[in-house]
Amino acid sequence: SKQLRLILGDQLNAGHTWYKEKSDDVLYVVAELHQEASYTRHHVQKVCAFFAAMQAFAQALESAGHRVLHLTLDDTQDFASLPELLTHLFIEHNISHFAYQLPDEYRLRTQLAEFCESLSVTSSVYDTEHFYLADEQLSRYFKRDKRHRLEHFYRKMRSEFNVLMVDGEPQGGQWNFDSDNRNKLKAADLADIPKPLVFANDVTGILARLERHQIKTIGQADKQLLWPVNRVQAKDLLTFFCQYCLPSFGRFQDAMTGKLIELGEDRGWSLYHSRLSFAINAKILSPKMVVDAAIAAFEQSQGAISLAQIEGFVRQIIGWREFVRGIYWANMPQYAQLNHLQAKRSLPSWFWNGETKMRCLSHAITQSLTYAYAHHIQRLMITGNFCLVAGIDPDEVDDWYLGIYIDAIEWVEMPNTRGMSQFADGGIVGSKAYAASGNYIKKMSDYCGDCAYKVTETVTDSACPLNALYWHFMQQHHALFASNPRTKMVYSNWLKKTDEDKQAVLERARQVLDNIEQL
Ligand code: FAD
Repeated sequence: SKQLRLILGDQLNAGHTWYKEKSDDVLYVVAELHQEASYTRHHVQKVCAFFAAMQAFAQALESAGHRVLHLTLDDTQDFASLPELLTHLFIEHNISHFAYQLPDEYRLRTQLAEFCESLSVTSSVYDTEHFYLADEQLSRYFKRDKRHRLEHFYRKMRSEFNVLMVDGEPQGGQWNFDSDNRNKLKAADLADIPKPLVFANDVTGILARLERHQIKTIGQADKQLLWPVNRVQAKDLLTFFCQYCLPSFGRFQDAMTGKLIELGEDRGWSLYHSRLSFAINAKILSPKMVVDAAIAAFEQSQGAISLAQIEGFVRQIIGWREFVRGIYWANMPQYAQLNHLQAKRSLPSWFWNGETKMRCLSHAITQSLTYAYAHHIQRLMITGNFCLVAGIDPDEVDDWYLGIYIDAIEWVEMPNTRGMSQFADGGIVGSKAYAASGNYIKKMSDYCGDCAYKVTETVTDSACPLNALYWHFMQQHHALFASNPRTKMVYSNWLKKTDEDKQAVLERARQVLDNIEQL
């Protein structure tokens, strides 16, 4: 009997038990699908990265002696959906059993589950063997609608997987080193920022296919894709990170600079971040492999990498990444509809071209279009914060984030965007709305210096729009946030203002919102 095993584009895990044995009766299928290239408007580099990585994976499997069918958009163009393609392949290859790995996305998981119900051949489903927590373990940690807190989950994960632990206690005697981290970059720090390791993967064939099939994309294309698309490149990037970025990872985790890019240098856009998210999300690297490599580098560094740096990094992977996945699966499909703050405004059109006078937003958006990448604090505190305080519809915000980033897959994109950054889940993922005025951006970046707007002003025509928007937002949602211990303080400052001052601020906010396209 013949078995077809489907490998989705984000299931490129070479360590999976599937590949431990070889059999001529097993046919692996890796397919470029119209449905996947078009369910949202993706960044062109993102489609290129997935397609190139799938091709490399198919080749590697084949070289290892497996039977592999790699299909391009040309081969799959006659099939409107994945089920249609599979049905056709079952007949063509005389398949009697269908196997797949659990998709991480609700849409695909539902599609394949429904497909299997209607099948005449037998089917089976496997774990992806990628995450620290297996799929079936998630319900032990996460409950629908419940407010979960990262810190609590993170400590459990550290203990359970014995990561940076000594005799059952956290290494260094504390779980969290945030207070040692989060420095601003001073002018003198800029010279030390490493030039990112980039690759030059030839994607001309893929670009031609996207053109031929009229796949609508966003962002800047390059014939040489800089993202890692195979295991060797991904491991090289991991080694590069451990050597050049990890020593300052936590310290400058929240810092932002526009200076180097303005000087025309091709560094400064990812600072000390790893840029491993695509390789991990496509499962080219496992999170455990990344964490183990980083901890080994820390241990061998003889103090050059401090505990605060490695702890900050480990927290992102065994903490945040596994955490948002748990939130996603406990709350889908309802999560995708949540709009707790009832935000309704449209996303300004300059989100698609970066043409705004607000320097922070112009930088974050232009960089996203150029590299399909922005680091966490740009996503959360620049673009995310603007959408939050301007009351942009979370459906549109989700759609933008899901399209534009190299690492954007719904299970990780949505809890971060709709939840953490837009508070549209009412606090399931985070304990407060990450709303900020221009002052936060001034503190953490060098964007405000040469901005057309003045960050020190609130009500004038040239005032930083974020200042009035911030107060407008806080005032609008007073009933919701005034009782929250993490935002209570803010209101005492608002209440200290005279009625006249309050009116002037709200008037400026209205003016900003009325002219949102021209900011
Ligand atoms: P680093 O700063 O080097 O961090 C190391 C790794 O930790 C990342 O590669 C990633 O795997 C993991 N990580 C860090 N923060 C998070 C987080 N909050 N949630 C989950 N994993 C995390 N990440 C995605 O992978 N896909 C997304 O679509 C995505 N959308 C986001 C949307 C918003 C609004 C925000 C605020 C964050 C989003 N993130 C997303 C999380 C985070 O910003 C990216 O993982 C990170 O910027 C990727 O760059 P890096 O690999 O250089 O990360």
